[in-house]
Amino acid sequence: MIKKRITYIALMLCLTTGLFSCKKNEGDLSKADQKKSQVPDEIIASLKSAGYNTSSVIKRDNGYIVEGDIFLTEADIANSSALRTSKTDQYRTTNIITGLPRVITIAVSSSLGSNFVQATDKAISRYNGIFLGLRFERVTSGAEITINGFYDVSGILGYAGFPTASGNPYNLINLNTYQFGTGSNIDYVATVIQHELGHTIGMRHTDYMDRSYSCGGAYYNEGPSIEGAIKVPNTPAVADPNSFMLSCTPGGNRTFNSYDVFGLNALYPKNSDRRPVLVYYSNQGADHYFGMGGMTTNSYWNFEGITFYAHNSQLPGTVPIYVYYSNQGADHYYTTNGNMNLANYWENQGVAFYAYNYQAPGTIPVYGYYSLQGADHYLMTTRGLDGQSYWNYEGIAFYAFPR
Ligand SMILES: [Zn+2]
Repeated sequence: MIKKRITYIALMLCLTTGLFSCKKNEGDLSKADQKKSQVPDEIIASLKSAGYNTSSVIKRDNGYIVEGDIFLTEADIANSSALRTSKTDQYRTTNIITGLPRVITIAVSSSLGSNFVQATDKAISRYNGIFLGLRFERVTSGAEITINGFYDVSGILGYAGFPTASGNPYNLINLNTYQFGTGSNIDYVATVIQHELGHTIGMRHTDYMDRSYSCGGAYYNEGPSIEGAIKVPNTPAVADPNSFMLSCTPGGNRTFNSYDVFGLNALYPKNSDRRPVLVYYSNQGADHYFGMGGMTTNSYWNFEGITFYAHNSQLPGTVPIYVYYSNQGADHYYTTNGNMNLANYWENQGVAFYAYNYQAPGTIPVYGYYSLQGADHYLMTTRGLDGQSYWNYEGIAFYAFPR
């Protein structure tokens, strides 16, 4: 579930300055309290013993919204034997989707209009554009996940649950039409659907350890809770300011950053023996960087997507692809040659990934281009830059797997 950050910021301002009218927020709080009073003491006690923060539990349908964001049925809450603890920017629940490769179908309730359908299609294309072992497809009936609307005068944008113990996605996403109206801000609705879809396939909030990171207000740890919070390997153990799985949003468009792409690929790989090679570009340095890890988006690097897949360890038949860097040209260069030393121009930065120096089954050529003007090396899986005056084609650099 995701909340709108503005609510929290407004509340915080009221508490610290006293200069702003707090009426709206007081109204919200008393409403929350009213809802809380509908929650039986035994539910509160179970949630508490399972490690949840119980300060704002909201009764809805056949279960409860906990920690502003997570939907749990009474059966989930009763099943506290599922309690897992993990102390340690991508966190997943204990249960994840099984049976990869797999297509997951999504339907939009007919009570939501065509804008919500468009937003759903946009969220689906964003997932399918990062080449996971999971693909999403919109259908009109018989879907595994249905997107419904509800109306609630609150800062809640939407909520969803986590995957089932049998490895299927949670079957409902609920969107608050009080927040979205007819859904005319399609990028914004798509962003929220993308986030809720993340929950249905087992993504927790990247800032679950301290929701105030994205929501503002006081420090608030969701805790691992009964669903588990397991760090996805090789993603940052710190909060990530651009992740699609932050608890709160300032509104607007937010899609996957490179850590999200990396984390989702680690969790739901297209091929379990391969890893995506992510490409970044800096227009300040006219420099392309290719690597297997996520990198924080900053003023220097822009994340551009996945170019090809390679190996992160030396499997039989593979060779190391070394990365060289020149600070004179602000240039990264990738080659099978581990002994390049051109008049102190290049610094060998080690092995970037492992690929092939021949066309192994399933691989495709990765072509090298160079721009003298930009002092920039670039890799592509097509010859799409041939004939451009800026780029010179340099030949096949190595062989790797297509997206
Ligand atoms: Zn959420």
